[in-house]
Amino acid sequence: MEFRLSEKEQAFYEEVEEFLKKELPSDWAAYNRAWPGGYASGEIPGAGIREAFVHYRQKLMEKGWLTIAWPKEYGGREYTYMEKAIFDERTSYYRAPNVDVIAVGMVGPTILEIGTEEQKQEWLPRIASGEVSMWLGYSEPNAGSDLAGIQTTAVEEGDEYIINGQKVWSSGAHVSDYAWLIARTDPTATRHKGVSFFIVDSKSPGITVRPLINIFGTHHFNEVFFDNVRVPKKNLIGQKNMGFYYLMTALDFERVILVGIGGFKRIFEELVEHVKRTERQGKPLKNYQSVRLKLARIATEIEIGYMLFWRTAEMLDKGLSPTVESSALKLTSTELSRKLAEVAMDVFGPYSLIEEETEFTPFRGMAPRGYIDCISATIGAGTSEIQRNIIALRGLGLPRG
Ligand SMILES: Cc1cc2nc3c(=O)[nH]c(=O)nc-3n(C[C@H](O)[C@H](O)[C@H](O)COP(=O)(O)OP(=O)(O)OC[C@H]3O[C@@H](n4cnc5c(N)ncnc54)[C@H](O)[C@@H]3O)c2cc1C
Repeated sequence: MEFRLSEKEQAFYEEVEEFLKKELPSDWAAYNRAWPGGYASGEIPGAGIREAFVHYRQKLMEKGWLTIAWPKEYGGREYTYMEKAIFDERTSYYRAPNVDVIAVGMVGPTILEIGTEEQKQEWLPRIASGEVSMWLGYSEPNAGSDLAGIQTTAVEEGDEYIINGQKVWSSGAHVSDYAWLIARTDPTATRHKGVSFFIVDSKSPGITVRPLINIFGTHHFNEVFFDNVRVPKKNLIGQKNMGFYYLMTALDFERVILVGIGGFKRIFEELVEHVKRTERQGKPLKNYQSVRLKLARIATEIEIGYMLFWRTAEMLDKGLSPTVESSALKLTSTELSRKLAEVAMDVFGPYSLIEEETEFTPFRGMAPRGYIDCISATIGAGTSEIQRNIIALRGLGLPRG
């Protein structure tokens, strides 16, 4: 079987490319040094960055591409998942900024699946217009890989729930309007039951957000404390006590959209180009056997990543649930991120450490930044071990380990 885009898809591919060339500053790729699969090595703040970001986001909204796969009635374009995948592939290839991964990419699609009509009307247009941003309140000090261990509670009182507990590794909680939170609503139920989803206003009395500074010295994570935080009952999304099942859907979306497959291709092309034109100790780099083998291995793994990426989109379009495929895609791409960083460091050696771009110093310091950052995506949204467990359990039918 040969994979080909249809004529319509190919035209869309070209339209997205034209859009990116027009709406992103021509030197954007130099600003944005995000390592594919990394969370924290993004663009370096500098003159014009904020303006460029706002301009790009505005243009995306005008096109309706911020919520490209959502139904039209909720502010989307109703494009297929394959078209959404094309859009994600091209934007990541051009290192376009991630405009709103959480509210638009994860929360919105989950509300579409599980929310009541009233909840859809209340939240989806506000997310689609960029009016509200969200952070993910899943992990806790005693619940990460094993989310069934969450201990944060939500207790009914009159027209409200009262939330108590602690979340951790909460990316962007300090700059987001609402928490997309899981909390235990039935403490007597078994671990995988009795959990519900809430949308909680970040400004509610009783919420304390404390920064956790990451390996880059950046404020990305937080720990967040809930002390008798009152939430209106209508902010319980979907059915009470069904949250754990909904979480599986939400995590599927997260694993698919975090991939940014085009970013791998882009940086790999730059790496190969550099190898083709550079000499080391009087000999072309391209003639070193060790370099050639490393590049060939990465080229193969990028192809595998692409196949899984298109396959996942195709399954979503057919209404299938790509749990195993999205785990395989997440695993393949985040492990690829590590291997790519290692190879870039090996190939460039000390030259990769220099930020100024010259003929001899490629990548503007991206490789060492990526080398530090690439570990993040192998942990976030479920570690590599957890993805392998999902593949073994649900894909191969092996028993729980
Ligand atoms: C960059 C980044 C951003 C994040 N953003 C958020 C966020 O916004 N919101 C949020 O809620 N969380 C967030 N997280 C947290 C993330 O989801 C958890 O760190 C992750 O799920 C792992 O949980 P843990 O840290 O508790 O590790 P643990 O679950 O304690 O795991 C520790 C180690 O044991 C291994 N392990 C655990 N269980 C098994 C098993 N059954 N089989 C084999 N090995 C196992 C793991 O693979 C890991 O290597 C983020 C994490 C990172 C790195």
